[in-house]
Amino acid sequence: MTDLEKRSDRSPVPADWTYAPAPESTDIVRLQERYGLYVGGEWLEAAEHYATIAPRDESPLANVAQASEADVRNAVGVAREAAAAWAALPGSERAKYLFRIARILAERSREFAVLESLNGGKPIKESRDVDIPLAAAHFFYYAGWADKLEYAFPNREPRPLGVAGQIIPWNFPLLMLSWKIAPALAAGNTVVLKPAETTPLTALLFCDVVRQAELPPGVVNIVTGDGSTGAALVDADVDKIAFTGSTEVGKAIQRRVAGTDKKLTLELGGKAANIVFDDAALDQAVEGIVNGIYFNQGHVCCAGSRLFVQESIYEPVVEKLKKRMATLRVGDPLDKNTDVGAINSRMQLEKIEELVAAGKEEGAEIYQSPCRLPEKGYWFAPTVFTNVAQSYRIAQEEIFGPVLSVLTFRTPDEAVEKANNTPYGLSAGIWTEKGSRILWMAQRLRAGVVWANTFNRFDPTSPFGGYKESGFGREGGLHGLEPYLDFV
Ligand code: ADP
Repeated sequence: MTDLEKRSDRSPVPADWTYAPAPESTDIVRLQERYGLYVGGEWLEAAEHYATIAPRDESPLANVAQASEADVRNAVGVAREAAAAWAALPGSERAKYLFRIARILAERSREFAVLESLNGGKPIKESRDVDIPLAAAHFFYYAGWADKLEYAFPNREPRPLGVAGQIIPWNFPLLMLSWKIAPALAAGNTVVLKPAETTPLTALLFCDVVRQAELPPGVVNIVTGDGSTGAALVDADVDKIAFTGSTEVGKAIQRRVAGTDKKLTLELGGKAANIVFDDAALDQAVEGIVNGIYFNQGHVCCAGSRLFVQESIYEPVVEKLKKRMATLRVGDPLDKNTDVGAINSRMQLEKIEELVAAGKEEGAEIYQSPCRLPEKGYWFAPTVFTNVAQSYRIAQEEIFGPVLSVLTFRTPDEAVEKANNTPYGLSAGIWTEKGSRILWMAQRLRAGVVWANTFNRFDPTSPFGGYKESGFGREGGLHGLEPYLDFV
């Protein structure tokens, strides 16, 4: 026996290579039993409350206020009273508050990450490495613009609008809050923000950051509740509505705002094409496909939910993809090894199940990764459909879940035509070795964001938004300031 053989003989060799559990402790999060409405720097009582739960096991986490129309009107009034003084502050002073918020978010990032995963169901490694750092980065970025607005828009005399009403969805709760609040405050507006009904907790914890940062009372107000609270905010005396959510609700908001002088930006659904050419680096492309659709359980408006593979490489790509899917670890969002967490709500799970059933019914072939799903909570195995026709519902409608539809193409022209054959236009991905092809494709794809040899990358300096039924207006970058300003 060689020395090495002797040593390996003594050391225990694991029988298989599955990961041991690595749960993140939830001790860092201190929840109140009941939350009110954060208005004017104080917690106001509400008449009604509802329970918010953890989607991983359906356990109740806290009771949250259901703001009434009168509560919303009051919050908007308080924001209005605070608006003049906030707008009159020198930009460099507003910047200090934004920098402070960014720093506190970074300091308390673990607490926020745990709470985000607990209330939303997303894997802790995503909330820890993506959501929370990006949220802090947005505040840092817009803090930098607060005292440079005249340089950002030369000769246009930018002025704040007044009060912004902001309505956000449940898929990236704190990140969407930062996309909304950071540019609004940098531009000199005050805000009333309504988080989604299933994921209010990080927005409520953010109120404590606002307190810590000593932001003047009334500059940031948070009202929780369901769609009726959102509708009340749209109808209230606000100067602007910024909405991220479903196309259906976006259309309803647009109808309500029509005829008023409220400004509006809408960031709505998507059905992105992720296009893989035969010269692409296939293993990297497969990673990009997986990240494109299984990141955040596919609860991503810009998810790469339609995969277009060039016909000549269809078989190896699908084979590699299935092999990779089998290694995805699905389970407890608070486990540091988890790749795919819980579905956000029962309602969303039912919607995914309905569309997957339609896919099977219409004749597509289904493959699901062979994972064991927990018994309690809301779960859906990573799924891929092959043999998909463009007319199928799974190729047309936004599923907002871990479900991919694979289609094929032969030429770049055909890829463009098929990719654009959707009512949406939020994002797209291109995988190819040729730079010229990337540029050729990017010019022709009707999508607000086009990624090349990567997917689902976000940066505060980069504008994000859609065409067609994916909405209008941009968030992020210099473009993200403009909807919060008036110009002489
Ligand atoms: P999602 O598919 O992300 O759940 P929704 O559009 O239903 O999208 O929800 C996004 C946000 O819009 C949530 O905060 C929700 O409470 C709010 N909302 C729902 N209905 C309305 C409405 N009629 N008016 C204003 N906001 C609404």
